[in-house]
Order: sequence, then C-alpha cells, then structure tokens
Amino acid sequence: MHPLDIIFPRNCEICGNNLLYGKDYHGICPGCFSRLETIQGERCSTCGRPLISEMTTCTICRERHYDFTRNVSVFEYEGVVRQLIHAYKFNRRKELSLLFAGFLYTVYAEHFEHLPIVPVPGRKESRKKQGWEHIETVLSVLDKSYGVPLCPVLRRTGSKAQKTLSFEDRKNNLNNTISPHITGTRLFSSVVLLDDVFTTGATAQECTRVLHAMGAGDVHIMTLAID
Ligand SMILES: [Zn+2]
Ligand SMILES: [Zn+2]
Repeated sequence: MHPLDIIFPRNCEICGNNLLYGKDYHGICPGCFSRLETIQGERCSTCGRPLISEMTTCTICRERHYDFTRNVSVFEYEGVVRQLIHAYKFNRRKELSLLFAGFLYTVYAEHFEHLPIVPVPGRKESRKKQGWEHIETVLSVLDKSYGVPLCPVLRRTGSKAQKTLSFEDRKNNLNNTISPHITGTRLFSSVVLLDDVFTTGATAQECTRVLHAMGAGDVHIMTLAID
C-alpha cells in the first residue's frame, strides 16, 4: 500500500469506492474506467457529434458556418462524463487531469499527430475564483507525460461567462476578447485548438479567426466532450 493511501484516502469520483494511489492513479476506479464510453462510429464531419440518421453533417452544422476544419471530441457531455468534468473544474479533483489527458492523447495521436496544440485561453475571473486553470493543467500533462508540442499563443481579455448565452450572443460577447498573446506572433503550420467542452462552437470559431489572422494553416479543434 502507498503511504498516501493512509494519509489521504481517496474515493472513485463516480462510484465512491476506495482508490489506491499508484502509477495508474487518475481519480476513478478500474471498473468505472472500463465503463466510460468514448464517441465511436459515424460523426458529423464538422462538429464531431455522433450521427444517427444524417449523412456526413449534422442538422446543426448545416445552418452554421465555421472556419475551423472540424472538431473531434472524446466524449458526449452527459452522465458520468459531465459529472467528472464538473468535479474536475469546480471541486478541484485535479488528479482527473491525468485521466482526461490520456483520452485526449488517444484522439490527438489518431487524428492530429505532430501538430502543435493551442489551448483556448481561460477567463481571468474563473482563474481568480477557482485559483487555477483547468485546461492548463491538462495541457501540462500532455506536455510532460506525452511530449505533445504546445503553442500557447492566445489570450483572453474580459468577456462575460458564456454559459447562459445563445450562439449569436456568444459570438458578440467574444468579439475582440481573444487576441494573440504577444502582438506580431506569426504561425507557420496547422494547429489543434484544445478546449474542454464544445457547445455552440462560438469560442472555437473566434479563436480560429484569430489564429488564421496570425498565419495558421488549418485549425482543428479537439475537445474533451461535446454538449
Ligand atoms: Zn468507481
Ligand atoms: Zn455537426
């Protein structure tokens, strides 16, 4: 038994069973881990939602124009996945970053290998409130454990929380709030933009606009879950 098991006993975030620290420690037990369902089968060629009866593009994407090539999400944002993301972001279950980074790396290796990852910049107010930045933590695992090239070139200045806004309002809310971290930075390759949840695609679209203006080739989106 690991000494930390006695000092800080931990429970599986999903079923509550005791967890043992060790090399595979990532916040959930092996049983719950084996039941996590990633998106498989036919996906929308733009947003990556699972397709049921549609062909290639989902009904939502047929009505919208995006400048990014496509989004690939690991999970659907529902059930235990929603619970895990919530626990990670708001209950400070930071060890889940190890779980999430593992799944994201699988998607990265399959679809985007060798391309630099640009994180969607976090909001200052949420960093202040939570005291940490959840995407950055996943990113640092991707960097240190998987050797994924990082390219943190965007920053965000004062925008309101997106959660309660419609697609149109989100677009307006974001205008001029995403910008290059350092003015004049030029990009010379295609990139992968990383975010936690893909909802309307407005954040991804705005980041893509800025990345293209900085010289990026194709902008692909990779997210943990799609709502
Ligand atoms: Zn469990
Ligand atoms: Zn779609």
